Amino acid sequence: MAPAGRASGAAAHRAETADGAGVQAPVKAAAPLRLTVLGATGSVGTSTLDLVGRHPGRFEVVALTANGNAERLAELAIAHRAKLAVIGEDTHYGTLRERLAGTGIRAAAGAAAIEAAAREPADCIMAAIVGAAGLRPTFAAAEQGTRVALANKECLVSAGEIFLTHLGRSGAELMPVDSEHSGAFQAIGRTAARSIEKIVLTASGGPFRTWDKERLARVSPEEALRHPNWSMGAKITIDSATLMNKGLELIEAFHLFPVAAHQLEAVVHPQSVVHCLVMLEDGSVMAQLSHPDMRTPIALALAWPERLATPVPRLDLVTLQSLTFEAPDHSRFPALKMAGETLKRGGTAPAVLNAANEVAVTAFLERRIGFLDIASTVAACLEKAEGKGLIGYADTLDGVIAADGEARRLTRTLLPG
Ligand code: NDP
Repeated sequence: MAPAGRASGAAAHRAETADGAGVQAPVKAAAPLRLTVLGATGSVGTSTLDLVGRHPGRFEVVALTANGNAERLAELAIAHRAKLAVIGEDTHYGTLRERLAGTGIRAAAGAAAIEAAAREPADCIMAAIVGAAGLRPTFAAAEQGTRVALANKECLVSAGEIFLTHLGRSGAELMPVDSEHSGAFQAIGRTAARSIEKIVLTASGGPFRTWDKERLARVSPEEALRHPNWSMGAKITIDSATLMNKGLELIEAFHLFPVAAHQLEAVVHPQSVVHCLVMLEDGSVMAQLSHPDMRTPIALALAWPERLATPVPRLDLVTLQSLTFEAPDHSRFPALKMAGETLKRGGTAPAVLNAANEVAVTAFLERRIGFLDIASTVAACLEKAEGKGLIGYADTLDGVIAADGEARRLTRTLLPG
């Protein structure tokens, strides 16, 4: 991740007179940052637009996309004067067009239109579609060679090397949005790669951190959707409860930072105040702290190397009093270790893990399987996929998407009914 190539923010330029005395040149307002938000109606999308709304003149919204929530998409497009609004599901196109009639905002529908929106010239594209559905649009966004603010973790989990090569080809800049990776990015700073001993990502432990297996077996979707610290979309909230999210984040971190798999660790930190710890060869530990609110890492991804003011509550360490850390319990939460093993296995194993998990989480939310069955279904899929020779090597996005599809089909055969 290189620093932003595009200057942003108001700058008062110093000019020199012939005799060398400094004079203040007129303050030039910087051009607004042209921003597209893929997944605008989601948790990360609306947090991004919340920041946009708080900084009038700083952003120009190019395109907003959603999947089925046409009403909300239209509201956001009108509020932020987007030029284009795209809905994924064709069936909602009529509603979108109706809501945008007379506004001058263009409307479009379908997966191809979302990819086209990602290619509309923009300085920064917030990639915040949930799941593997975000792969093609995020790849399309990366073709512009500008900045990709990456919330969609599946791009790195399922197609890490391919995505990084793709970014390299266009010269696009990648800024992490996940709070842990945003923390690591800041904590590493200009530190030489060889001096990094370990990167430790923190996990809240989710709502069931202290529950025994018997209670975990009876967890309802409603209980699992109640995260103690973070307000997020449904899929990632369930992943936080199973600790699969931390496993996916370890895979992301492997691709984002110059470390080997054995230099990545997760630790449970129930307060979610310290987001990441970077341990260095001189014994220093660099950490990034902030109140658990996604607007802080989103602001960084949008504005870096500048900062963007946010209304996020400020930390008061005296009130907090204690920050605690504990080792994750792999027997109650096996997903974390499983994800780490797929990273070591390599090839399409992380893509298979991710696809199986998406299917299993949906089945849990539909009450077709229990909470503990999420991880066991993913484990069974990985084992079967390995046995059938479905885990291999993919060097194209199409190859990854094919592996993802196979894994979904296989996982469905493992579900009841
Ligand atoms: P949400 O479920 O809240 O939002 C998802 C967004 O993607 C919505 O705009 C949704 O549209 C859209 N979408 C869903 N399916 C499709 C599809 N098939 N095609 C096109 N668009 C689609 O997710 P989050 O905001 O929580 O998460 C987004 C991504 O960011 C995920 O990859 C997540 O892991 C990652 N992330 C999220 C964090 C958070 O705090 N929420 C933190 C770190 C990472 P619609 O509303 O119309 O369904």
